[in-house]
Amino acid sequence: MNEKITILHTSDIHGYILPINYTNNQPENIGLAKIASEMKTYKKDNLILIDTGDTLQGSPMMYVHHKYLENSFQPMAKVLNYLSYDYYIPGNHDFNYGKAYLKNFTNNLNATTLCANIMTSENKLYFGKSFDIYTTKQGVKIAIIGLTTEYIPNWEQASHIKDISFNSVIETLRKTLLEIKLCNPDAILVAYHGGFEKDLDSHKLIIKDTKENVGSAILEEFPEIDVLLTGHQHRQIIRKINNTIISQPSKNGEGFSTIELEFQKNDSWQLISSNFSFRNSLDFLPDQNIIDMVSSEEKLTQEKLNQVIGFIENKALLINNQFEARLNKHPIVTLINKIQLEVSDAMISAMSLANESTGFKQKITVRDVLSTYPFANTLTVVQISGDKLKVALEENAKYFTIKDNQIAISEEFSTPKKQHYNYDMFDGIEYTIKVSNPIGQRITSLTRKGKAIKPTDSFSLVLNNYRATGGGDFEIFRNLDIVSEIPKDFSVIIIEYIQKTKTISPTNTNNIKVIK
Ligand SMILES: [Zn+2]
Repeated sequence: MNEKITILHTSDIHGYILPINYTNNQPENIGLAKIASEMKTYKKDNLILIDTGDTLQGSPMMYVHHKYLENSFQPMAKVLNYLSYDYYIPGNHDFNYGKAYLKNFTNNLNATTLCANIMTSENKLYFGKSFDIYTTKQGVKIAIIGLTTEYIPNWEQASHIKDISFNSVIETLRKTLLEIKLCNPDAILVAYHGGFEKDLDSHKLIIKDTKENVGSAILEEFPEIDVLLTGHQHRQIIRKINNTIISQPSKNGEGFSTIELEFQKNDSWQLISSNFSFRNSLDFLPDQNIIDMVSSEEKLTQEKLNQVIGFIENKALLINNQFEARLNKHPIVTLINKIQLEVSDAMISAMSLANESTGFKQKITVRDVLSTYPFANTLTVVQISGDKLKVALEENAKYFTIKDNQIAISEEFSTPKKQHYNYDMFDGIEYTIKVSNPIGQRITSLTRKGKAIKPTDSFSLVLNNYRATGGGDFEIFRNLDIVSEIPKDFSVIIIEYIQKTKTISPTNTNNIKVIK
């Protein structure tokens, strides 16, 4: 007797439903609507659909839904329900709009939320279940465990995770597997919102071992796992390592993974073969039902995005070259730092551009702001000493390297994940980065208003909550004294600032010199 099971895996959809690029409304190979038409061609029998999180935040439609339609049915939940998803595992970004928004989403969802390591203050599960046993028509039992990166407190606003604790993924998995084995499953599937800390072939660490990603440790410690679904790093992975099939299906709905398992019954069910592949959305047509399902949210999104909120004097502030914009500090950086300084009263400001920030057209729209600053961040003001500030700048200076006798971007900011957003540019100080110097000795001058900064000097510094909690390996910012917090979405602050100012006169402070 044989039985086949098919698993379809999505992750890090980031609220993208429609196949368009919201920065210019051109068609793009993304979104659940495209994936859907292909998913629907799979036979419903023994079909398991799993999304491993970072589902709610990222696209302008989610921004608009959160800001204007918060209590209406969550559009991602509509689509996941329409596709009959079975399981959802929360991602870190799913906390970005706060507890109530996330609860509204999981309440709207027909899928079971699985998460074994996020707990209430009474040490009870914060979400639905820790694991589920999926039983097929003929009785094959698959144990499915949900886990979420335990690193969330290092990024998220305190109020969004108040009274929630994030337990160790490895320890929780160890305990849950003992519980699961009592159910005698025929296969074990782990669905984890997190990625891999080591190179999958050389087993060398490729990122800092902070427990943000523990996929490699899971593989090493629990060889009994048959399938490990991952996400968070936006990588496209589908392969087998030893006896475990691993999947990570890219981002924004660029595609999905399919995993087919075949079991045979002798005394008990045995997994006898498997098939797996990544299905790229490029070949799929969008599902019209889904387009119709979110048409009112889309209409409002486009209206809000097109709203003109102000003007730039003389000419547009477009970013035509991402590298140049960082090498020579684009005036948009100066503008955003200026806004941060004004709303916070801090002495120094740091900000980073997104991987693909667009800049502002001369007639500034909400679309321009959200395409330049797509993060759901708030601002935090910390008190920092001169010596710690220098450490932070040295960390930033790692962004550059010398390649073929030219200044270039260090490898670690492009692979395994693009992380250009981890390079900050400061205002309120003047400094020089000499890239040919050894790491840790690259800041060759550091002044404020022309005066050298002493290690014992003290400054108020405004930065986003992600960075203030140490995000992007900026441990130096963690545990600093917090002067104040501005809980409003910073993108909303930018929009309101432009609406109030009406005409923006860009300036360039030329305070950062990056030299060979
Ligand atoms: Zn994530």
